[in-house]
Amino acid sequence: MLDEATVEQFKVEVRGEVLQPGEPDYAEARKAYNAMIDKHPRMISRCSDVADVISCVNFARENDLILAVRGGGHSVAGFGLVNDGLVIDLSRMRGVRVDPQARTVRVEGGATLGDVDHATHAFGLAVPAGVVSTTGVGGLTLGGGQGYLERRYGLTIDNLLEADVILADGSLVKASEQEHESLFWAIRGGGGNFGVVTSFLFRAHPVHTVYAGPTLWDMEQAEEAMRWYRDFIPRAPEELNGLFAFLVVPPGPPFPEHLHGKTMCGVVWCYTGPLEEAEEAFRPIRQFGPPALDLAGPMPLPTLNSMFDPLVPPGLQQYWTGDFIDELSDEAIAVHVKYGEKTPTMLSTTLLFPTDGAVHRVEKDATAWSYRDTMWSATINGVDPDPANNERIISWAKEYADALQPYSAGGAYVNFMMDEGQERIRATYRDNYERLVEIKNEYDPSNLFRVNQNIKPIATV
Ligand SMILES: Cc1cc2nc3c(=O)[nH]c(=O)nc-3n(C[C@H](O)[C@H](O)[C@H](O)COP(=O)(O)OP(=O)(O)OC[C@H]3O[C@@H](n4cnc5c(N)ncnc54)[C@H](O)[C@@H]3O)c2cc1C
Repeated sequence: MLDEATVEQFKVEVRGEVLQPGEPDYAEARKAYNAMIDKHPRMISRCSDVADVISCVNFARENDLILAVRGGGHSVAGFGLVNDGLVIDLSRMRGVRVDPQARTVRVEGGATLGDVDHATHAFGLAVPAGVVSTTGVGGLTLGGGQGYLERRYGLTIDNLLEADVILADGSLVKASEQEHESLFWAIRGGGGNFGVVTSFLFRAHPVHTVYAGPTLWDMEQAEEAMRWYRDFIPRAPEELNGLFAFLVVPPGPPFPEHLHGKTMCGVVWCYTGPLEEAEEAFRPIRQFGPPALDLAGPMPLPTLNSMFDPLVPPGLQQYWTGDFIDELSDEAIAVHVKYGEKTPTMLSTTLLFPTDGAVHRVEKDATAWSYRDTMWSATINGVDPDPANNERIISWAKEYADALQPYSAGGAYVNFMMDEGQERIRATYRDNYERLVEIKNEYDPSNLFRVNQNIKPIATV
């Protein structure tokens, strides 16, 4: 039990707001991005700086409070919040500073991908990250970071140069290839298990205007389209990336009326090579089919990175499953098409992220992300505004994932999983799991940071 004086003292120490149940803003602050998550924290601390984060970590440890860390709040599993504990809310710590000469970007722990895109684009630079701009840099990076630039420039973690981490004892360390190397290894894929990252330093790349957008095909062509895509991507230049999708066409521009509400398959492309060579790179894409709809063309990278934001605002019901896939066999494709056709609601979707190119050039044990040799990372997203449809979206996602099990490589990208238990986490980290446990033992032996895809230290197994 926390006595009032202890809480008052804590509130004096924290420069940001400390919100408790019943206070103005608490109800808003406890909302998760995924409306299926309904948690009631004891306190939510909207930190304003690193000192606040240190106070929060010390307060949680000293008072035996379960601790959650919220970056962008997008975890569909709801790991940014916790019942009856303390939430370190980083949403006020979103500063981004670009060094155009060094081509590096310093990003605070609560920034969103849109914050980074906005700041870097002004210099013609970009950090490889995800496909929805409202997603938090914190959770996305610590889990790995997949997106349009990954075939060419790698995962987000492959572009991480250093991080400031507040450890469980309240101290701040810098993790990099030169300092706290094992911690640096672990935070590149091992999630929020090791501390609170208050600042990331990323390498940026010269990407400004890309040739990008979706091409869609009718479901009658889905099997053929998916086979073509499977064969095309590994041979395509790394400047070209494409995420395969099953979707229901949204009822509004830029989609033509005759396609509204239609279940289709497609690929969202992103070409980062010279613009004058884009049409040539797209020739085989346009020759296949041809597509029923072709919206690909030149656009600023931030436009592509925020194209789907309006479809996925906060407050929707979301149930996700994920899987790494080594090989898209014809049998696996038949399963995809069967469930793709049954996409249960307008906002539900399936996405396949290619995981080759630059991702394969990093050794399996060079970072915590072990699936360096897999070809695809799938995410099946049951999504709808109405909780009355939860049963439908959940059973579709689960049955789809079950049917794909024979073709799964074993694990899944941690950021595409719900809270699925220890076996799944071990399967995902494979040979890297033991080393993660050793590093957890060293940096967080009491498992203070456990509201995540948790690596349990030995003492608490
Ligand atoms: C609409 C949508 C689109 C997405 N698209 C992509 C995509 O294209 N590519 C991709 O790779 N992923 C994608 N994701 C998944 C995304 O990477 C995860 O949801 C990720 O957890 C989001 O991070 P966050 O900071 O927003 O989440 P939060 O809920 O705030 O945090 C998630 C986890 O990370 C930890 N964490 C967050 N910030 C910090 C920090 N600074 N220090 C320590 N721990 C921290 C939290 O404790 C928690 O365990 C998407 C998710 C959504 C909802």
